[in-house]
Amino acid sequence: MTVVVEELGSRSRAVMPGGVNSPVRAFTAVGGDPPFVVSGKGAHLRTVEGREFVDFIASWGGQILGHADPEVVQAVTEAAMRGTSFGVTTPAEVELAELVRELVPSMEMMRMVNSGTEATMSALRLARAATGRSGVLVFEGCYHGHGDPFLVRAGSGLAMFGVPSSPGVPPEVTSLTRLARYNDLASVATLLEGGGVAAVVVEPVAGNMGCVPPVPGFLEGLRRLCDQTGTLLVFDEVMTGFRVARGGAQSLYEVTPDLTTLGKVAAGATPGALYGGRADLMRMVSPDGPVYQAGTMSGNPLVTAAAMATLNRLTDDLYERFDAAGERMAAELRRVAGQAGHPIVVNYVGGMIGVFLGVEQVRSWDDVAELDRGLFARFFHAALDRGVLVPPSPYETWFLMEAHLGDVLDRAIENIGAALQETLR
Ligand code: PLP
Repeated sequence: MTVVVEELGSRSRAVMPGGVNSPVRAFTAVGGDPPFVVSGKGAHLRTVEGREFVDFIASWGGQILGHADPEVVQAVTEAAMRGTSFGVTTPAEVELAELVRELVPSMEMMRMVNSGTEATMSALRLARAATGRSGVLVFEGCYHGHGDPFLVRAGSGLAMFGVPSSPGVPPEVTSLTRLARYNDLASVATLLEGGGVAAVVVEPVAGNMGCVPPVPGFLEGLRRLCDQTGTLLVFDEVMTGFRVARGGAQSLYEVTPDLTTLGKVAAGATPGALYGGRADLMRMVSPDGPVYQAGTMSGNPLVTAAAMATLNRLTDDLYERFDAAGERMAAELRRVAGQAGHPIVVNYVGGMIGVFLGVEQVRSWDDVAELDRGLFARFFHAALDRGVLVPPSPYETWFLMEAHLGDVLDRAIENIGAALQETLR
């Protein structure tokens, strides 16, 4: 560690909890000193010490083209020169909403907000208002931001009444949250019995316990169970939206939710997000309807500019290239692990990759709860030493960007393979 990083580290910890503005950035799961990034270009990040890394964090999925993409930068710069925020509606908001509706037709109407957390909180409020019910059903291992109703743990397995996973979250709130097992329809059916659930909220490809795709029939089954019980189906596509397909996971798996949340790529990797869905539901939102929800910065011109510049660049071909890249990464990791006689699961969907060391299959949280964190930490640092930054936790998805595709990826795959070989030696 250099003097510069040491000094910034202690200054940051004096003024921000853990020295960070979001916990995973503190590298708690892997140890060592988190880098301070000063710039990004394409697939690379540059640190304050002048080190360069090939970046598979990609702003936790938000960057799909690459860092500082010239067209996105130009769009944001031009927007900034016209003004950074007005608090009055702009034509760009209308254009973006129309484009999102074209790409994700189930979002007949939508509302722009400022973070994925806000999008899921707002969608849940609307679902509760529309159904007159208070319960919500979520899945162990999924993440929907840090809103109180979503910060739950089960204790052991399925739970009819979630327990707060953080101090400060009232048990009265989480008692309304039921926790089911991902990819297990029977667990959902059981927890929907007795009624009272406004919405099933699900990541259609789970991305917050590593990348765990839905097994065939799971999403269709959720749709059916929701229809049978008058429950709304909410796809939290903050991560998967525009990342696994141009129309999101709902187009890939051909299952239509009632409400959808988007963020990250949908905002061109700026602080924006959306929620939307059936027009009859969205018309309940203020001022058309009685469900209150608002935001000073919502629909911000810098966000809409970045979003439009990004979404206009997405082609079906990009996701085919992501899948091919995922397959190559998976093949190399499986080859190295196989030679070492070490179990591994590598999943990939579009630009999402999940790497699970030491397990034979991954369908739900139960399969990954006991991952060997020490082993992952050694692998992480071996990759970092070779100039590759993967997410600093065994429970995070790796993300591809267009800028990776080509030589950069070839070299990164070689280096990641070598890092794994060293780790398993
Ligand atoms: N929903 C999902 C599926 C996410 O992956 C995330 C963030 O990673 C969120 C919601 C919360 O979004 P934000 O961090 O923008 O509040």
